[in-house]
Amino acid sequence: MGVPTLGCHCVVCESSDPHDKRLRPSLMLEYGGRTVLIDTTPDFRTQAILAKIERLDAVLYTHGHADHILGLDDIRPYNIKQRGVVRLFAAEDTLAILRRTFAYVFSGKPTDSSIPLVELQAVDGPFDLFGLRVTPVAAHHGPEPVLGYRFGKLAYLTDFSKVPENSKELLRGLDVFVLDALRHEPHPMHSTVEQSLQLVEELKPRQAWFTHICHDLGHAETNSALPDNVRLAYDGLKFEVQV
Ligand SMILES: [Zn+2]
Ligand SMILES: [Zn+2]
Ligand SMILES: [Zn+2]
Repeated sequence: MGVPTLGCHCVVCESSDPHDKRLRPSLMLEYGGRTVLIDTTPDFRTQAILAKIERLDAVLYTHGHADHILGLDDIRPYNIKQRGVVRLFAAEDTLAILRRTFAYVFSGKPTDSSIPLVELQAVDGPFDLFGLRVTPVAAHHGPEPVLGYRFGKLAYLTDFSKVPENSKELLRGLDVFVLDALRHEPHPMHSTVEQSLQLVEELKPRQAWFTHICHDLGHAETNSALPDNVRLAYDGLKFEVQV
């Protein structure tokens, strides 16, 4: 929902620490002159301004929930600037949600307005993207499927409640693991701080960053109770990783 959460006056929502201002979760990868995004959140335009995104080559979608897809329309300036399509990668069920949610983009009907120019590609296994090997990592988001992605020593896995054993094999030997940790209280669709700490303990990445954090978790207070190699991610966080 983002922090501050609308209408809420809890200590985190009213915190003056800039780390407690949270737009919806997303990751931007820059390599070889390319810019690849994971998800287009409803905050995408604001995030692109803040991160000074100059170009956009592809989007990898995790799943079709509103907080991960609704910013798609705002890729249009990059279509115009680059005079070309942006490639969208997602599992087949997520592509179906994109086609339905953004029917005006995929209807094929002539329009006098600009619409996102995209090329859809179904993800059903590892693939190469502009010279980088991308490995999808399937997990459960309550009763629904979700995809995480691994790039060399980096993996991003948001919105999961359970990681199946065969996917855990794809998440070993990481330098950086960015993963869902919504709050302390159990949630049917999301991993909690305690569950994500257990997963970090099991998979042993060098560094873990928790994301998809709700207003239950204050930045400074939560960080002070985490192990040295685990921290809450925050808007604008940047790091380099060998892939
Ligand atoms: Zn609040
Ligand atoms: Zn979700
Ligand atoms: Zn979400």
